[in-house]
Amino acid sequence: MNLNSTEMLSQNIKRPVGPVFKFGGTSMGSVERIEHVAEICLRLKPSAIVVSAMAGETNRLIELANKITTKIDVPEYDMLVASGEQVAVSLLSLALRKRGIVPAPMLASKAGVLTDAQFSKASILKVNGGSIHAAITSGKMPVIAGFQGVTEDGQLTSLGRGGSDTSAVAIAAGIGAKECVIYTDVNGVYSTDPRICPEAHIIRKINYEEMLEMASQGSKVLHIRSVQLAAKWGIKLVVKNTFSQDEGTEMVLSESSLEGEIVSGVAASQNESWITAGPSRDPQFNLANVFTTLAEKKINVDIINQIVCEKGNKFHFTVAQADCSASTEVLKNEFKNLELNVNNDVAKISIVGVGMRTHAGVAARMFRCLAENNIEVLLVTTSEIKIGCLIYRGCINKAVQILHKEFVSLSL
Ligand code: ADP
Ligand code: ASP
Ligand code: MG
Repeated sequence: MNLNSTEMLSQNIKRPVGPVFKFGGTSMGSVERIEHVAEICLRLKPSAIVVSAMAGETNRLIELANKITTKIDVPEYDMLVASGEQVAVSLLSLALRKRGIVPAPMLASKAGVLTDAQFSKASILKVNGGSIHAAITSGKMPVIAGFQGVTEDGQLTSLGRGGSDTSAVAIAAGIGAKECVIYTDVNGVYSTDPRICPEAHIIRKINYEEMLEMASQGSKVLHIRSVQLAAKWGIKLVVKNTFSQDEGTEMVLSESSLEGEIVSGVAASQNESWITAGPSRDPQFNLANVFTTLAEKKINVDIINQIVCEKGNKFHFTVAQADCSASTEVLKNEFKNLELNVNNDVAKISIVGVGMRTHAGVAARMFRCLAENNIEVLLVTTSEIKIGCLIYRGCINKAVQILHKEFVSLSL
């Protein structure tokens, strides 16, 4: 199935396909936990299972690579960081077979997950669900490596941190499944990260649009592209806890997740680099050229601020930390003698809610609340349903707590 086409190609599918389950790193974090996951699969019989590497493993692999180089947009990097998923697939398959389920262990190549060749952050183009479907039809339970794909010419790729959520939804779409359950280590999607703010409350039904903003602003409970794909393909996306019986959170299409609320959630991202480029009087150093240079490298820029002064143009912008060295490298090559400064000691705090569309003064209230707590705002970004502020990293937990108290706790 081509994920960019509008046609759902699931003609090969002769009978309805059940849900796809995805288990994250903590859920797969030890042999005991993997046995527990196998018990869940034995009881609930998903059509296919997608897994992440065991908790900490991807970090370990990335640290090994970093000891040698910071260059990550190369095939050998992806081959390294995606290897943790192979171990997880194998262990879960062994645990399933022990319980009488015949597993069909698959890496991305066998599972037909085709991507582009943007190493370290490849995008899924298509899922050829034939092999998965054949395994299901022959009574096996496919156990598939998340976070990885394969290019048209057979090279292994990886999808970027947290990408196995996206693998699961793309695979669900590719085999014609109607539901994808993301099993993780919290009960569902909360009004903010429950590990930072104990007052956070679970959101039983969250609108796709709000979830997209929450994910893009740093709520790592779901990878952003998984939410986009689920919305596009009409797949019921549910987040549940591997370690509890809680009903979890469901993504819905309705207008607002919580009636009458202005702000539904607070998101924090500690994965930001703040880059300052310029000033420069070089006529080529303008908005269009600078950001085209970055876009050509597939670098996603978040907050952008242009200052025009006597000394020429100056830009402040933020990128994901993983893209920081690539950003400075590409700008240095394109614009000779450019002054570049990087600050990684920053984080982004955002409030999200469809209710903002119809309420004025939300930004003012957010800025006042941060100011009263001596939290300096460095840069600001807004959309119709979110306001994000770049702040110093040391203040992030406090910012989450005070904004949650200001906008979310009291509105319950
Ligand atoms: P997995 O390994 O299962 O993919 P992740 O660590 O990627 O799990 O995502 C789950 C984590 O997301 C939670 O442990 C929690 O700390 C964090 N998180 C951040 N924001 C939220 C939120 N709004 N709701 C729930 N969890 C959140
Ligand atoms: N194992 C990968 C990571 O740690 C993918 C994922 O967990 O979704 O980023
Ligand atoms: Mg995750």
